[in-house]
Amino acid sequence: MTNSDPIVIVGGGLTAARAIEAIRESDQDTPVVLVGKENRLPYERPPLSKGVMLGNDPEDSAFTHPREWYDENHVELRLGVAADRLDTGARTVTLSDGSELSYGALLIATGSGLRKLDAPGTDLADVFYLRSMPDSAKIRARLVAGSEVVIVGAGWIGLEVAAAARHHGAEVTIIEPQPAPLYGVVGEQVGSWFADLHRGHGVTLRLGEGVERLEGEDGKVTAVVTSSGERLPADTVVIGVGIRPNTRLAEDAGLEVDDGVVVDEALRTSAEGVYAAGDVANWFNPTLGTRLRVEHWANAQDGGYAAGESIVGKEVHYGPIPFFFSDQYDIGLEYAGHVPRDTDAEVVLRGDPASNEFMAFWVVPEGDGVRVLAGMHVNVWDTMDAVQALIRTRAAVDRARLADPGVSLTDLAGQ
Ligand SMILES: Cc1cc2nc3c(=O)[nH]c(=O)nc-3n(C[C@H](O)[C@H](O)[C@H](O)COP(=O)(O)OP(=O)(O)OC[C@H]3O[C@@H](n4cnc5c(N)ncnc54)[C@H](O)[C@@H]3O)c2cc1C
Repeated sequence: MTNSDPIVIVGGGLTAARAIEAIRESDQDTPVVLVGKENRLPYERPPLSKGVMLGNDPEDSAFTHPREWYDENHVELRLGVAADRLDTGARTVTLSDGSELSYGALLIATGSGLRKLDAPGTDLADVFYLRSMPDSAKIRARLVAGSEVVIVGAGWIGLEVAAAARHHGAEVTIIEPQPAPLYGVVGEQVGSWFADLHRGHGVTLRLGEGVERLEGEDGKVTAVVTSSGERLPADTVVIGVGIRPNTRLAEDAGLEVDDGVVVDEALRTSAEGVYAAGDVANWFNPTLGTRLRVEHWANAQDGGYAAGESIVGKEVHYGPIPFFFSDQYDIGLEYAGHVPRDTDAEVVLRGDPASNEFMAFWVVPEGDGVRVLAGMHVNVWDTMDAVQALIRTRAAVDRARLADPGVSLTDLAGQ
């Protein structure tokens, strides 16, 4: 790479911003160009369903850096422009405004796009999805006392929007085809605790039901009809049925793609000089000894930084224990670990879930005890380092001691 070949960062999210930080910490000279489809500076998305949607934090607080930071760091901003075509042989990228950039190195940090609900009526007015700042502002404006909000999907986004809607006094119903919220992530037992949490705050849950269609009048949504044929009145519908990685650019360029852009532990794709990180990357995690793709803030934060280091030639072995957090009503939770899809993991509880202060561990049998694959706390702060240490040791721990809040997790992890 010569100084005349810029480093091109495609995607204007947190991953992109953190990569630029890492690059500029060791290289102030190579030109850096940020190509971002959204016409705004990189920002963090978690506040969009929490502090910003609750009305506690201004939207501006979500930006990762002020505009001057990009100026001071000599970053050329090409915002409101998408990267449409990547030619890894010629090392060029063509943008949606028709211009072409040559690159010495290129980072694909295109994140995720929304999965759409496949049901008639989703094109009616006052039906929303949540991914961006404008989405968040539009939903926030609809959350007023007495409004009838139906949320489709009891995943993290659906549950956080439900909490914000209740905060603003809206009536809330959640429709979820699975038997419990977050069923695929935490299973039925812990998922049922989330159901109770929301019911306790006045949310109606319609579990085990899907959406047949949305109905409207004068182009605006008026009801959601469930798969059991029930008609739920609604003046606002928020759909949160998941996301998928934005891999089109990589696929069209012939890069290896398999549930995300395939990269190694240094976040290098199958094409020379092209890297990928954040939501869009499916990387080999050397700590876990497996490939994975996650949709977590921490992975954008740390993976973006690691990609920047890799681009400037540092040796990178990106192997974090995946980490996630959420806030709903008066609870805060953190989750660390990875339970591979077909694993029959058992849940060990520590503390009483009814107290809203407890931990849950996902374990598999190991020797005389169990091995911890993942752990979550609800309002039991400062426990995540020990949880991550427990996961890293891979050692058998005593099941009863793991379940006992009186036993130090740090001691259990043998630290
Ligand atoms: C409302 C909300 C709440 C969340 N809350 C949490 C939370 O509590 N905890 C947690 O761990 N995670 C949370 N997340 C997930 C977290 O925000 C994501 O993991 C993170 O945003 C991923 O960052 P990224 O930069 O990889 O991708 P993104 O944030 O998706 O950014 C990618 C950017 O690239 C742009 N782009 C796409 N294609 C192109 C192209 N061809 N050319 C140019 N630009 C392109 C996109 O428009 C986008 O701006 C939340 C997400 C949302 C939406």
